[in-house]
This record gives sequence, structure tokens and C-alpha cells, in this order.
Amino acid sequence: MSRYTGPVCRLCRREGQKLYLKGDKCYTDKCPMSKRNYIPGQHGRSRKKLTEYGLQLREKQKVRRFYGIQESQMRKYFDMADKMHGITGENLLKLLELRMDNVVYRMGFASSRAEARQLVTHGHFTVNGKKVDVPSSILKVGDEIEVKSRSKNSPKFKELIENHRGSTVSWLDVSPEEMKGKIIAEPSREDIDIPVEEHLIVELYSK
Ligand code: SF4
Repeated sequence: MSRYTGPVCRLCRREGQKLYLKGDKCYTDKCPMSKRNYIPGQHGRSRKKLTEYGLQLREKQKVRRFYGIQESQMRKYFDMADKMHGITGENLLKLLELRMDNVVYRMGFASSRAEARQLVTHGHFTVNGKKVDVPSSILKVGDEIEVKSRSKNSPKFKELIENHRGSTVSWLDVSPEEMKGKIIAEPSREDIDIPVEEHLIVELYSK
């Protein structure tokens, strides 16, 4: 399945929730969700009651869109989560949180996950001193993520640091001035701010 390239605000409206896909715009009253909080399309205002399968599907799509991942990747993460100790749904969200692009976003070095993905792909970051340009890399506790020294002086990163809002999660220790951060703990379920019932995703994939 190819990556979605259409208008991203439509995705939030489809899920009926803010997914914070557009960076700063999401925090202003320009966000379409404040005025048009209904499903796009001709029949968008007449919401039908969802079936059990429909509910499970919507929760899965919501998570995919929140993290910007494709179906095949989602399935792969589910299989990994299923083999781990603990609750499969929480393991799934934990793996998604530990993706390189999400970590960069959570560190406050990008205004959206899409921007974080692009910055990672363009090779602006190192992990434990080595260049990592694969946004789907799963990081672990103890990993140190840093903006590459050559990129630190670029106008893009200077601007990002000037507007740095700080890390939003307790499992990251971030130093904006040094443009680096460290994963100090595994993300807990409370740290994951997506309003999702992950057990529905587990039920969907377990059929
Ligand atoms: Fe979603 Fe952000 Fe667009 Fe609002 S501005 S609809 S939160 S992507």
C-alpha cells in the first residue's frame, strides 16, 4: 500500500480527533477540526453506528495515521508486540513511540512526525555517535540522539531550537542547547497521548 499524499487535515476529520499532523497549525484556531469536526464527504454529518469490526478498524487506522505508518509496517509491529512480554496493545504503542522519527518529534526537534521523518531521512541525526537515517529504526533505553555537528549550524536547526517547546514526555532527557537527548526510560502508557483503545487493534489483528 502506498503512502497517503492527500490533505492531512482530512485524516483528522475522518477519525473525528486531532492527530496533530500539521505542526504548529494544529495548535491554532486555523485547525479545521475546530470548525468542521465531522467526517469529510457528502454524508459526513450523518454518522452511522459502527459495527464491532468498524470500531476495531477505526482504532487501527487512527494509530497508523497518528504515527504516519503503512499497513505492512503496522502488522510487523503487531507481530513484534505479540511476541514481547506484557500487554500486546501497550507493547505495540511502545514500539511505535520508540521509532526514530517519533523520538525526534518527542524531543521537540521537529514540529510534526512528518517533518521528523524527513529530517531523519536527510541524515541530520546520529544515535550513539553513528548516523541513522532510517525513520523506522526502533531505539532503546540508553540511546543518545544528537543533531549531526554539521547540521547544528544550519538555519533550519537554529530556528527549531529558538522555538523549542521542550520535550513533552518524561522518558526523554533533552538538552535543546546541545541539540541532543537521551532515552532514559521506556515510554509508559500514560506518556502516550493518543486517545486510542489499543485492545481493539489487538482484537482486529488476532482474528
Ligand atoms: Fe489535524 Fe492539525 Fe489539521 Fe487540525 S491542523 S485537522 S490537528 S492536522
